[in-house]
Formats: sequence, C-alpha cells, structure tokens
Amino acid sequence: MHKFRLLDALNAPEEDMDSPSDNQRAPLPCPSDVLYTPPNPDGSNKKCGNCVMYATGRGQCYIHEPALSIRPTSVCGYHVFCFAPMRMFTSVVSMQALTPEQSGLIQTEDGTSCSSCKYFAKDPREQGGECMAVIDPSSLPAFVEEKGCCARWTLGAPSLSEMLDESMEEEEEEEDLDEDEDLADDEAGY
Ligand code: SF4
Ligand code: SF4
Repeated sequence: MHKFRLLDALNAPEEDMDSPSDNQRAPLPCPSDVLYTPPNPDGSNKKCGNCVMYATGRGQCYIHEPALSIRPTSVCGYHVFCFAPMRMFTSVVSMQALTPEQSGLIQTEDGTSCSSCKYFAKDPREQGGECMAVIDPSSLPAFVEEKGCCARWTLGAPSLSEMLDESMEEEEEEEDLDEDEDLADDEAGY
C-alpha cells in the first residue's frame, strides 16, 4: 500500500508537489504598487530627455554614476517629468548612486508609455484602456491612460486599433495614388 502511495507521489505532476497553490499566489498589483504615473503634461513619452534628473550637456543622470553616459531616449523607474531639463548640474551632493540594474534603466526608441506596452488593450472610445498587468479595487484590469506608464512597462506589438489606423491610412494613400494615375491618364488622352 505504501509502495503505491509512493509511486503515486512520484508520478504526480510537478506543479502538484512544488508550485504554489492558488491561495499562495500573489495577486496582480494595483497601479500605485508599480509606480504608475499619469501622462506627461505635454503628452510626450517618459524618457530621460524630459526628466528633472537629467543633464542634457553630458547625458548624465543625477542619481546614477556621473561617468555613466545616458541617451535622452533612455528611461528608468525613477523618471520625474520636467519641461526643460538643465544642461549641466550646478552642484552634486555626496550620495550612493544607483546602478542601472537597481533603477531599471533601459534604452528605448523614444521613451515609454502604456500605448507601446504589451499589456495595454486600448479602448477606442477613450484616451486609454485596460491594463492586463495591474488591477483596480474590484480586481478587474485597471483603466490606464495611453501616455501613462509604470515600472512593468514591456515593449509590445502595436495594438489592434493602431494596426487598423495604419491599414486605413495605407488604403487612403493607395486611393489617392489611383486617383492621381486616373487624372494623369485623362490628361494624356488614354
Ligand atoms: S535615468 Fe531615470 S532618473 Fe535618470 S534621467 Fe533617466 S529617467 Fe530620470
Ligand atoms: S500598460 Fe504597461 S506601462 Fe501601462 S500600466 Fe500597464 S504594465 Fe504599466
């Protein structure tokens, strides 16, 4: 009898023995748990080039090692928007600088926002949509703004609505080209 129990245990799927049960799994975080910030006032993406801790002259960040050269299109989890970053720091206090691993510093094409995140599902009627990575007080996907962002940002494929917009633009361009060609044919007397 004991032998069969042992065999059962050995043959059991791995998750039955080692993985956490449902009530041990941590729930998804709410937006403030992952440092969600609302859109920049000028509608730009979050990036070092519009962060209060950036010095544009040498590509330095106040909270990282001064020797670290950072592009204006990079960003980290400590981003704080400002309209006009300074060119040079006028003074620097003695502090323990963060490493890129600690701050989550990454290089991007042109900064980050929910609209380019793989967890974002745009609502075509709103300037935002649902995020599959954070929940609201009812434990449903939280509503986030297109140009908001958080520490869980992960580059994703363009959303369905963006792809639809692009294909409509392409169709319009093709129609314009056809009309131009018809006009040229008419003028040439074909
Ligand atoms: S690395 Fe982070 S804190 Fe530093 S300038 Fe860039 S966004 Fe701001
Ligand atoms: S869509 Fe991405 S960046 Fe925006 S809140 Fe969700 S996880 Fe964060």
